[in-house]
Order: sequence, then C-alpha cells, then structure tokens
Amino acid sequence: MLKKNWKLERDYFNKLNRGSEILEIKLASKTDKQKTFNLIFNGVTLLRIERKKISRTNKKLLEWAHTRGDLVTKKSQNNFRRILELNKQITDEINSDSSKPNQTPDKFDDVLQHLQRRKQGIEEIQQNFKIDFIKKDKIGYCGRCNCFRQTGDLTAAATTRIPCPFCSSPITMRAYHSLPPKTERFLGGTWFEEYIAKRLHTLGWTTFTDIYVYGNSGAKFEIDILAAKNGRTLLVECKTGPTGLTKLSSFIAKFSQIRTTSAAFITLEKMNEDDQRVAEAIGQLKLIEGVNSERGLLRRLKQL
Ligand SMILES: [Zn+2]
Repeated sequence: MLKKNWKLERDYFNKLNRGSEILEIKLASKTDKQKTFNLIFNGVTLLRIERKKISRTNKKLLEWAHTRGDLVTKKSQNNFRRILELNKQITDEINSDSSKPNQTPDKFDDVLQHLQRRKQGIEEIQQNFKIDFIKKDKIGYCGRCNCFRQTGDLTAAATTRIPCPFCSSPITMRAYHSLPPKTERFLGGTWFEEYIAKRLHTLGWTTFTDIYVYGNSGAKFEIDILAAKNGRTLLVECKTGPTGLTKLSSFIAKFSQIRTTSAAFITLEKMNEDDQRVAEAIGQLKLIEGVNSERGLLRRLKQL
C-alpha cells in the first residue's frame, strides 16, 4: 500500500516539477498514519507538507464548486448566506426543543410547519444552485409537549416505544430536513478554496488543498491552498466573510514562516484602504479583494 502511494506521490511531483530536479521525496513510515513529505527543488528543501487525515468534503460538492462559474457573484453570495441561515434556524429549533418541557402550539405557526417553510426556502436556493444539499433525517417528537425529543439510536426507536422524558407520552418519529455538517462547512467557506484551487489549476498551477505546511521555526500551519508552477511556489488564503487586519496579519505571519515564492490573499468582500496598504507593503504578497465575477477573478489570478 505504501509503495503504491509512494509511486503516486512521485508521479504527482514529476508533473509538478517541470524542469527542476526532485532529489528526494520523503513519505512518513508505515506506523505514522499521517502522510508527511518534502517538496524539494534543486536539492533544497522548499517545503515540508502534511496531508490532513480526513478530507473536508465529498466529491459531489467538490465537482459542483469546480464547474459552477457564478459562485462568486453577489447573488450567489446572498444565497450562501440565506441557505446557512435557514439551516441554522432548523437545527437551532430542534436542539433548543430537546430541553424544553413543552411549548404552546401557535394556531398559525406550528413547529413542524416552521421547519417545513425553512426547508422550502432551502429548496428554492438549491434550484438556483442546481444541486441537492438537503439530507432527510428523522427526529423524535412529542405531540403532547409539541417539542422535538432526542431518541438516540433510531433503530431502537423504531421497535420500542420511547416515552417523552417530560410527559411520558410515546415519542413518534418525524421527518426533518437539514444540511449535513460537512455540507454546512463547505457552503460556509470551503467552497471558495476549492473554487480558487480549480481556477489556479486551469492556469497551469499544481494545487494542494487539505494540507498543513511547516514553517521555518518548525511550527505547523493550516493553509488553504499551496500551488506550484515552473519551480515557483504560491501560498493562498481565501476568505468569504468580513476580513480585517487580524486575519490579514495572521496570513502575513504564515507567509513569513513558510516562505513560498509569493502569496495571495483572496477575499469576496472589499477590504478597507488601510488594510490594503498593509498588504501592499509586504513584498510578493498580492491582495485580490472584492471578488464578484469569474472574469475579474481569472484576470487577477493570471497575474500571480
Ligand atoms: Zn412530552
């Protein structure tokens, strides 16, 4: 198994190399479950890399982020925000219910109808995005208390009648729909890293996501994207939310430690002028902020 992986790594780096000679590719020993390797050009260790144990998302979502060309538009960004908000309302309602003894059903606004409406909201956005994110699940429900109840193991709940801990009425199972946690994280920001990685790949960069890179001090950093092209290396940080000096500074610290040839800090939202000045003052650091169109993004990525 290790041998096979080693060959894959080697082929990968041969492709990446393009002219520079790789003198050493080192993988962790069999007993070490984490894969660590060095990126070496012309006999000099450029970077020490470690892959994350678990990938953050599934193939379907990755492919989706790779092929959709409009995810950086304002409209899509609003949709991302909205879908996460609706999902949070669904999960909050279910979680807060579990510890509540009971609640009065509102004639017009019953709990289950609540969830149904939010699910419909998510479905509308899905149609826009042309993908199905929702996962159908079941949750215990006490009709007398008008509250959701945690039942633990679902199969047990199907065969035995579990009484409500507050009123002892039998709990029934109700269907509910929400985003799986991985999907929620993906829509919350990971999609942007994958989106950028794919576009860099199209521009000839070999890209790595889901990795840590070691800095000069030996400290290990979680990074968004590492890219390499023609012997050059590039460190990329992608931000979907509001971004200020704190986040920029922490990226600058990573860059000063990891020492790639250049770095890019890419944000969907606009940054203020002072923060822009700070970024401009760092040699080899490129700020790509306020991304809102595929064309504009590609034009700026080409300059890296
Ligand atoms: Zn009850």
